[in-house]
Amino acid sequence: MRIGRAAAVTDTGRQRLRNEDAFVCEPPLFAVADGMGGARAGEVAARLAATALEEAGRGVDDMEGLITEANRRIWERSVADPKTAGMGTTVTAALVDGRGGSVTIGHVGDSRAYLHRNGALEQLTTDHSLVAELVEGGLLTPEEAERHPQRSAITRALGTEPTVEVDVFRVEAVPGDLFLICSDGLSSMVDDDELASVIGEAEGEPARAAGGLVAAANANGGQDNITVVLFEIVEGDPDEQPPEVTVASDAIRDQTPAAPAVDGSRPSEEISTHGAGKGGRLPALLLVVGALLLYWGISR
Ligand code: MN
Repeated sequence: MRIGRAAAVTDTGRQRLRNEDAFVCEPPLFAVADGMGGARAGEVAARLAATALEEAGRGVDDMEGLITEANRRIWERSVADPKTAGMGTTVTAALVDGRGGSVTIGHVGDSRAYLHRNGALEQLTTDHSLVAELVEGGLLTPEEAERHPQRSAITRALGTEPTVEVDVFRVEAVPGDLFLICSDGLSSMVDDDELASVIGEAEGEPARAAGGLVAAANANGGQDNITVVLFEIVEGDPDEQPPEVTVASDAIRDQTPAAPAVDGSRPSEEISTHGAGKGGRLPALLLVVGALLLYWGISR
């Protein structure tokens, strides 16, 4: 088995002014990083993560080591440069082994990996997010989680602490498998059924699927930056034919204001940020809940 075609697209979306997502599409390594932090620090964090993976990823097959190295670089930069204090990023990465037979996935945060096999789409990663934990605990239904105002609050990030816990697992691939890695700008705008049908319509063609997925996220509102990376596993000898890679980025649009929102509301950087500052939004949310409980207790 070998990697066939691969494609990556990143798009600012329809509401944000800047694109703070980054990606890696350098077979056998693929990744998406979705940055967070004020004053462009999210962009710095995501880019540092992507660069660390690209540089350290050549010839390395230790996924945990790769992501740990990325974490170290972001953390050290944020300590050295107060303007970036508290910055962080998600990362979801896939590394295909030399014979194409297995794919190692590593992940921190709420960017996702999916596998499209035999016409069915399976989510491979579990989000490190507040709503995912509430669903896990039976406090929210998956449908409620999709619409929850805090759905972008992540509970684990890269670069916000000196060390990080990384989820790593391996998937045994079969020819015809199509892997998708995406930021929440896709998964929060397009539900799994629509993801599967867009991929199905693209007939397994990664570049076509990538374009279709970004278009679907924008058609549904495009409230966040959208990044998708897809690669297929096909029959054949890896030494015979190199993978075919297509990438597209609208990063150039970063310099110009985004188009006005369809619903007429002001473009906003606040709609679904992953949380500004160290630790993201979860501590802030807990503070608010605590204050409310305290107030409720006093006023009784
Ligand atoms: Mn995002």
